[in-house]
Amino acid sequence: MVRAANAAENQVFVIGGGPAGLAAALAARQRGFEVIVADSCVPPIDKPCGEGLMPDGIEALQRLGVTIPATQAHAFQGIRFVSGELSADAVFPQGFAWGVRRTHLHRVMVEAAERAGVQLWWGRVVTGLDPEGVRVQGDLVRARWIVGADGSSSRVRRWAGLDAHLRKKQRYAFRRHYKIAPWSQFMELHWAARCQLYVTPVDPGQVCVALISRDPGLRLDEALPEFPEVAERLRHAAHGSMERGALTVTRKLANVCGGRVALLGDASGGVDAITGEGLCLAFRQAVLLADCLCANDLNRYQVEHRRIARHAARMADLMLLLEHREGLRRRLMRAFRAHPVLFPRMLAMHVGEGSPLHFAGNSLALGWSLLTA
Ligand SMILES: Cc1cc2nc3c(=O)[nH]c(=O)nc-3n(C[C@H](O)[C@H](O)[C@H](O)COP(=O)(O)OP(=O)(O)OC[C@H]3O[C@@H](n4cnc5c(N)ncnc54)[C@H](O)[C@@H]3O)c2cc1C
Repeated sequence: MVRAANAAENQVFVIGGGPAGLAAALAARQRGFEVIVADSCVPPIDKPCGEGLMPDGIEALQRLGVTIPATQAHAFQGIRFVSGELSADAVFPQGFAWGVRRTHLHRVMVEAAERAGVQLWWGRVVTGLDPEGVRVQGDLVRARWIVGADGSSSRVRRWAGLDAHLRKKQRYAFRRHYKIAPWSQFMELHWAARCQLYVTPVDPGQVCVALISRDPGLRLDEALPEFPEVAERLRHAAHGSMERGALTVTRKLANVCGGRVALLGDASGGVDAITGEGLCLAFRQAVLLADCLCANDLNRYQVEHRRIARHAARMADLMLLLEHREGLRRRLMRAFRAHPVLFPRMLAMHVGEGSPLHFAGNSLALGWSLLTA
């Protein structure tokens, strides 16, 4: 446990109380820091999201002392791809994933942060950085470390001069819940010519449906006929929530920290939502960051952050290759059928069960199968 004589010397100030900010706060508390989290919103905070928490994300959360009660989530056992009349599925190598309403996840994380002794300042806007800390609605709050977990359009990133990026792409997402019993043990990813739809079971009577495309004007009702199987199932289902939109941004920053500021979660870059990995990445970054703050070594955070993000970014690239290539998708489905170990192996890599060597080996095997399918 770190104990500093001066309170401000031991103070971590987290800007943003979404999943990333709360995870950062929990990890920092585990290392003995005093932690304040400020968020302009009031919990439980909702946000358009596919609401799938992969097995590695569940494990990372548990390490932070957060367990999602089974009554607050719905387990699923793998991923199913559907393109036209072709489909393939794969089960996770170990454990299961949760479909969990974003508001439930937030509530459970807030409760864990309260138990851990994090000071939570809801409804408070951080208005700037200061050489000695942060400005909260104009007032100075001193802190040794500042964590920018203020989401994809992070202002902390800009204030800290960390906005320079090596890569940036964005797509548009719309999400709505439907009141219907989940029909599958899988999180389903449906592909069509100009968009994808993913369906996550979130409780025994509800599924979350997220549409992703490059067209800012494309809404769920217009896109659903392109997915006849899903459209038929949802035909008589009542809406469980309003349709809400969000950007899904692929961003690779040149630097994720500088001085006393470190970025985390979507503020620190991000992978396309199609990977379903945003939350897990944030939880792993939170543990890493707390270790690095403890060791007074943000250089290590910079290096390791890149390593953590690399794998998810490669997976996103692979999946986005399929976006507008129906022929390639059909070959992929056929390859998955012809080589039943291929999809489970790729899924295993996706949830962190495999090395870069495995990744290279599986990519080669996949490439070969695509050529011969
Ligand atoms: C359509 C879609 C589907 C997705 N599906 C999945 C999925 O299935 N699984 C998965 O793991 N990930 C998924 N993701 C990604 C995941 O939602 C994000 O990675 C995650 O929400 C990032 O959390 P965060 O805490 O970094 O940011 P946010 O959740 O955006 O939180 C940022 C917080 O900062 C606060 N804030 C901002 N500025 C200030 C300020 N100046 N002062 C005070 N507070 C401030 C905001 O109020 C907000 O609460 C999806 C994303 C999208 C868009």
